[in-house]
Amino acid sequence: MTNMNVRFCAILSLSIVVPALAFAQQTPQSLADAELPSLLAIYKDVHSHPELSGHEERTAALIAKELGAAGCEVTEHLGKYADPKFKGYGVIGVMKNGDGSTVLVRTDMDALPVEEETGLPYASKVTTKNDEGKDVHVMHACGHDAHIAAFIGTARALAKLKDQWHGTILFVAQPAEELGTGARALLKDGLYDRFGKPDFALGFHDKADMQIGHIGVTEGYTYANVDSVDVTVRGVGGHGAYPHKTKDPIVLAAEMINSWQTIASREDNPLDPIVVTVGSIHGGTKHNIIPDEVKMQLTVRTYKADVRDRVLAAIDRIAKGCAVAAGIPPERAPIVTVRKDEFTPATYNNPDLTKRLVPVWKRALGNENVEIVDPTMGGEDFSEYSLPDHSIPAVDFHVGAVDPAKIAEYKQAGKELPSLHSSKFAPVPEPTIRAGVIGMTSAVLELMKK
Ligand SMILES: [Zn+2]
Ligand SMILES: [Zn+2]
Repeated sequence: MTNMNVRFCAILSLSIVVPALAFAQQTPQSLADAELPSLLAIYKDVHSHPELSGHEERTAALIAKELGAAGCEVTEHLGKYADPKFKGYGVIGVMKNGDGSTVLVRTDMDALPVEEETGLPYASKVTTKNDEGKDVHVMHACGHDAHIAAFIGTARALAKLKDQWHGTILFVAQPAEELGTGARALLKDGLYDRFGKPDFALGFHDKADMQIGHIGVTEGYTYANVDSVDVTVRGVGGHGAYPHKTKDPIVLAAEMINSWQTIASREDNPLDPIVVTVGSIHGGTKHNIIPDEVKMQLTVRTYKADVRDRVLAAIDRIAKGCAVAAGIPPERAPIVTVRKDEFTPATYNNPDLTKRLVPVWKRALGNENVEIVDPTMGGEDFSEYSLPDHSIPAVDFHVGAVDPAKIAEYKQAGKELPSLHSSKFAPVPEPTIRAGVIGMTSAVLELMKK
């Protein structure tokens, strides 16, 4: 071999190796960085065009277009609601890449009836009528717009990383998360029958008190069972000056409220967290009239199914027992109704899957940027995707959305940061979306790797 041939071969092999290397170097991180300007534009567009739960028409169309452009087979208008006034705005994008497991990746997409007060240049000025016909402002105050941008970024990244995974990815854009009805509506419309039951389900939520660039996760229960309970306390009304001729439902309601708090303090195992909150109480019309009834609305939070059953039974038993103690006749016993349609099951992060993903995120973002966080008593209908028996391993992780300097400033001042749903909640979009894309893409690659 002559010198010239050696040089020729060297140039030839270099010209083959360089593009191959460039291709091989594509990573969730490099793709997130490359897509960030475009994803930020999508974020700002969605942020300034928020839509209420069950009305996500524009948002769904935008996501459908983007999933199609990323190479997914797209199905629109999925979702069957109990209430016919809601249309199905669910979007499913199927990305196929040979045989292998199926992984579900979920974003939510609805906004809230909140008047934005962030002062951002892309702040929402949208107003609309809510389902009761009342004029309301609309804002992406829960960060679902950041979820959407990261979801689209994840689809684009995984389309470019097809040499590193095999199987089927179900990209699910879910409406009506804030009502707790959207995931159920998709499942009722045959999500798993029509598109296949996934082997794993993944979602994430931005976190209003975690620093940007961080991922947080909880092993096991991460969000609570959410039950809504209506209680009608029935008494015998009359003149406020002659209580002995009445059965006062207001005093009786007060008894119930205090006694319900003893469920947590006296009946429940202290190691099983529960919350019983009376969020609404209405009764009476005037100072000197004892009314016939009082209406209350409760939110009840639990984790375990048996604890849930016991707490709901205790609320009913205490309400009826207090009424008996007050001498209410049996035909005027309180009516306790658990709103079954509004139940959101607890979100359970499969421990084995969580243990598998934590080191993946540590490698992707750095050891110090992955946190094990406490569970909360909040609710999230992502839980529906793992089915009631948690038979589909699922993980819903957190992505930090706040500048660390802001966290420090608020801490020093002894103030609470604006929470999710606050009119002042303003995530820092670029790093939140970036960590969302990297976290989700690297998790999917781990579960589907070649
Ligand atoms: Zn929310
Ligand atoms: Zn949310």
